[in-house]
Amino acid sequence: MAFTRVTSSHRLFLAVLLPLLMLGTFAVRGMKAQSKAAWDAMEEEAARAAMVAADHLAREFQAKVREVPRFPDPPVPGSPSPMDAVLDGGDIPALLALRDSPEAGTSPAGLPRRILAALRLLELDPEFLRDRAADRGEIARLATEECPSVLTGLVIQKLGMSDGASSQRWKDVEEALLILRSHPEGGWIPRGDSYAWVRQDGSQVSFLSTAAVLAILQDKQLSYAAPKDFGIRISTGKDLPRSSAAPAIFGAAPVSFGEGLRAEVYLHSPDQAMASLRRQQLWTYSALALAAVVSLGGLYLIHRTLQRERKLNEMKSQFVASVSHELRAPVASIRLMADALEEGKMAPETAKEFHRLIAREGARLSTLVGNVLDHARIEQGRRIWKMESCDLAALVAETLRVMEPLTREKELALLSSLEAVEASVDAGAIQQALVNLLDNAIKFSPRGKSIGTSLAIHDESRTWTLSVSDEGSGIPKEEQSRIFERFYRPGDELRRETQGTGIGLSLVKSIVDAHGGSVTVESEPGKGSTFTLRLPISTP
Ligand code: ADP
Repeated sequence: MAFTRVTSSHRLFLAVLLPLLMLGTFAVRGMKAQSKAAWDAMEEEAARAAMVAADHLAREFQAKVREVPRFPDPPVPGSPSPMDAVLDGGDIPALLALRDSPEAGTSPAGLPRRILAALRLLELDPEFLRDRAADRGEIARLATEECPSVLTGLVIQKLGMSDGASSQRWKDVEEALLILRSHPEGGWIPRGDSYAWVRQDGSQVSFLSTAAVLAILQDKQLSYAAPKDFGIRISTGKDLPRSSAAPAIFGAAPVSFGEGLRAEVYLHSPDQAMASLRRQQLWTYSALALAAVVSLGGLYLIHRTLQRERKLNEMKSQFVASVSHELRAPVASIRLMADALEEGKMAPETAKEFHRLIAREGARLSTLVGNVLDHARIEQGRRIWKMESCDLAALVAETLRVMEPLTREKELALLSSLEAVEASVDAGAIQQALVNLLDNAIKFSPRGKSIGTSLAIHDESRTWTLSVSDEGSGIPKEEQSRIFERFYRPGDELRRETQGTGIGLSLVKSIVDAHGGSVTVESEPGKGSTFTLRLPISTP
């Protein structure tokens, strides 16, 4: 029997746990595949974005390449000419004509006469260039394209034109030449956070200044090419050491301009990018955990119900055994005493005692049979309650009188305090409840103690109470909530010294429930117990 029970419990566990385990395995695998797919998709997108950015960059770079002009450097001396005299004079129209003459040539010192004329004009009239954009542009062009490069910076400064486009060109030239000096091979050269690109082809120099490269890299279009959460950066791929904090590169594409330059796509924040995936996974895990909790909870409930069912069955069998025992003992003693009385060979006092004992055993039998029958009726819902107005003090007094002989046998004092109570009750049922409480009090009291019964009315709450207290064995705290369960008797059958069937208190509870009342117990082991019924004066 025990073996079958164990295997059925095992089967139950397997039936729930195996599918749960399989579900978990599938879910974990699914999620792994899902995150791999999401990662792959991001890599694909990053590669595509890198290609778009590389293509865009190549075209931008191509468009911004500048051919660096070559300056006469060092100065080429010219031959003396009457024009040199004009340069020393103050004739403004002559100076203007000289400045604008393509044949002006260079002075014996090697400086373009046109520049010298412009400088002379400024010397004569510092306001000369105010509001004359055309002149200003022309002078700047002369300074940056015709002046020996070693002097261009000075001239530009003197003319106060260091912020114009021409001077920028000249600065570019300077930068290109400077780079070429340290990197004669040219190519992409890291400059601070950016790059410059330079190529020397014979005497021809092509150049992308750092400023131009920066302007292109900061172009908004480049960042548009990047998907959400990604950033794009440009790298030569070789000479920039990557720190450990550098972002993980997701995709890269070569920029087909110059050599070795790559557009790299990185994740701004991998955690953030993976957040939605993680959120999905969290949902799946939560659903899985919920399924596990619900299944295990269900499993536990089934297990508990089975256990209770098993316990109830055990208690029922015990009940049947106790009832048979309880019936057999009084019947046997009644038969023995009746036989002895029939023979008539005994002293009159003994005969009287036998009659008393037969009456007592008979009463016990009728209480027992009454309990069993009522229990069966209540269980099957067949018990009909007859509520009638009743003088409860009289009912209790009458019950105490009936029980009195039993207390006398154990030399128990039967005390009572009864108030007058008129309530609508099923008198027979209330008496049965009281008999059961008194019967227990007598059973569990040692010889010579007292049992108290009190009946009281509580007008304000429209209730009345009936309590039975004893000075008996008492009931441990943990048992107190269970003793009202049907068939429940504490301890195992062998340990129980007192007779009983375990339905007395459950019957009391059913009776009280039917009256819309309650039953409580206060008890301390070794000191005694008090059972109290609290019922409404009129039945609901
Ligand atoms: P029975 O008395 O037939 O065993 P009951 O339902 O009347 O069944 O009582 C259940 C159990 O509650 C008893 O077996 C006993 O352990 C405990 N009990 C009831 N009344 C008392 C009492 N007055 N003093 C001590 N224990 C009690």
